[in-house]
Amino acid sequence: MRWQPGDQVLVEMMDFGMPFMVLPVTVVWDRPDELVLWFAEGTPYRHRVQRDSSGIPRVASPSAFAQLDTQLVPTTAPGRTALVVLRPGRAHAVQLHWDMPGWRFRQWYVNLQTPFARTTHGIRSTDRFLDIVVDPDLSWRWKDEDEAQEAVRVGRLTSAEAAAIREEGERVVTDIEAGRPPFDRTYTQWRPDPAWEVPPVPDGGTGSRS
Ligand code: MG
Repeated sequence: MRWQPGDQVLVEMMDFGMPFMVLPVTVVWDRPDELVLWFAEGTPYRHRVQRDSSGIPRVASPSAFAQLDTQLVPTTAPGRTALVVLRPGRAHAVQLHWDMPGWRFRQWYVNLQTPFARTTHGIRSTDRFLDIVVDPDLSWRWKDEDEAQEAVRVGRLTSAEAAAIREEGERVVTDIEAGRPPFDRTYTQWRPDPAWEVPPVPDGGTGSRS
């Protein structure tokens, strides 16, 4: 199953067996080696918060999370747009972030996450805490190393998993330092088809469309 450019699909970021973020995106291309998705400025999406609207601790232990009463609520990220570059079997996504209006390229954001799985309506993955931020000049730094350590401490990751996540990040760093795609201008100068429309808000988290 492959999608066509312009198809609207959902990215579901999962944790504890449930969606934590449900993002409507547009397929840029879907090739055997690369799936690229566009998150349009002003797209309504859903994210999980506590019933009283407070945030969920980013590295809650399974037992602490089980105590929380949570729900998916609609939100937006004004002034932001992003391209998401995914490679089948690879445990990361490379996001390109621009500030809007004007397409000012801000950064690449390497999100370490489980290899994406296709669903009938999009893809699923699970965030793996550690990230890499890459400036427009290709200087880079680890982000949230403390959260990755905390994830091991509270039982969200084994030490071996944490080591494998970091090794995946180190493989990406070799691409960053070499300026290999998507860390090059062929991606930073990408722009969407003007005919593409902002997708509607996704429904309450079952994955189907409202
Ligand atoms: Mg992350």
